Amino acid sequence: MDAITRLKLLSSQTTFEVDAENSLRSALPPPTGCLEQKARGLLVHPAVLPNGGRIQLLKSMLTSACERDCYYCPFRSGRDFQRATFKPDDFARVFMELHRRGVVEGLFFSSGVAGGSIRTQDQMLDTAEILRYKLGYRGYLHLKIMPGAEKDQVLRSMQLADRVSVNLEAPNTERLQRLAPHKAFLDELVTRLGWVEEIRKSKPAYLGWNGRWPSSTTQFVAGGAGESDLELLQTTEFMYSKLGLKRTYFMAFKPVPGTPMEAQPPTPPVRELRLYQASYLLRDYGFSMEEMPFTRSGDLPLNVDPKQAWAQLYLAHSPIEINQAGRSELMRIPGIGQKTADAIIRARRFHTLREISMLRKLGAVTERAAPYILLDGRKAEYQPALF
Ligand code: SF4
Repeated sequence: MDAITRLKLLSSQTTFEVDAENSLRSALPPPTGCLEQKARGLLVHPAVLPNGGRIQLLKSMLTSACERDCYYCPFRSGRDFQRATFKPDDFARVFMELHRRGVVEGLFFSSGVAGGSIRTQDQMLDTAEILRYKLGYRGYLHLKIMPGAEKDQVLRSMQLADRVSVNLEAPNTERLQRLAPHKAFLDELVTRLGWVEEIRKSKPAYLGWNGRWPSSTTQFVAGGAGESDLELLQTTEFMYSKLGLKRTYFMAFKPVPGTPMEAQPPTPPVRELRLYQASYLLRDYGFSMEEMPFTRSGDLPLNVDPKQAWAQLYLAHSPIEINQAGRSELMRIPGIGQKTADAIIRARRFHTLREISMLRKLGAVTERAAPYILLDGRKAEYQPALF
C-alpha cells in the first residue's frame, strides 16, 4: 500500500476525534496537481484554532493497529478491519509534502498502541521531531499523549506541540471500567494531565515549542458508560480549575459494529450540546457546579439550554437591571455573552439603556434576554414567540 493510500485510510478512520475549537469534516478542495489528485479522498477538517485562526487540519494516526481492547473503540485489538501503519520518517515526509502543496495546514496526530505505550509515544515523538527539526514544519501540531507515557515523554511532547491531550473517555475509575477495563483512570491518564500542568507551572515557557507551553485538552465519550452529566461535569470542573485544561470535548457515544458495545443505543447528539453549553458556563461564565440545573438523575435537561434553565429558576422573579449590573451578572442573562456584556458596559457610560432595540444593536439575543431583565427599572417590552 503506498503512503497516500495509507494516509487516506488512517485519516478516514480517525474521524471520531475532536480537536481545535471547532472542527467539521470536509472533503479536499478540487485537485490541482498530481499529488493533489492522488490525495483525493483524504479527509481534512476545517478547524478554528484557539487563537481564532482557521486551518485545514489533517487528523491521522501513526498506526490504526492497537493491542488494547477498549470496548467502544473501532481500533480495538481483534476487530476485523483494514489497518494501516507508518514509520515515523515516512509519515513525516508525506505529511510535509502535502503541507508544502497547501493540501493540509495543520496536524492532529494520534496512534493506536503497538508495542507498548512507551514505544508508541517514542514513535510519535520521532515523527514530530523529524517534522519540526529535519523538515522545518512550524505549523499547528496537536500531539496525543498515550496512556502510561513517561514523564520525560510528556515534557518532550510539550516541547514539540501546540496542544497536547490525554483522552479520559469517562469521568472516573468506575465508569472507565465499563468502557476500557484495562485502562487505569488515575495512574495512566489523569496523572499525565497533572504532569502537563506541573511542567507548565514549574519550568520556564521558553523551553516549550515556539517559546510557550502548549494548551491541554481531554475528551469524554458521553453516555457510553451510563454516567450522569453531573459526573462528567464534576470531572470537567476539576480539569479546568486544578489541571489548567483549555477545554474538555464531549463525543456522544455511537456504537461501533464489531465491538462489545455494538448493541448499546447511541447517545442523543443534543446531550453532547448541553454538556458543551454547561462546560462553557463553568469555564467562562463564573457558574459553579451547585448552580447547574441538574435533574434528580444528575443529568441536564435536554429541552432547554442550561443557562436558560438556571435563569428560569433564579431570574424570572428577580430580573437584572441592565444599567447597573456588573459584567459577571450580565453574562448570567440568557442571550448575553462576554462580548455583549462588554459592549453594554461601554454603551451605558454614554447613555441609559431604555429600549430593547438598543440592547439588540449591542449584540444581545433579545428574545432570550427580555424575560430576565429590567431596562431603567422597567420590564423589557418584547413579543414572545407564538410557536
Ligand atoms: S488504546 Fe486507544 S486506540 Fe487502542 S483500543 Fe483503546 S481507545 Fe482504541
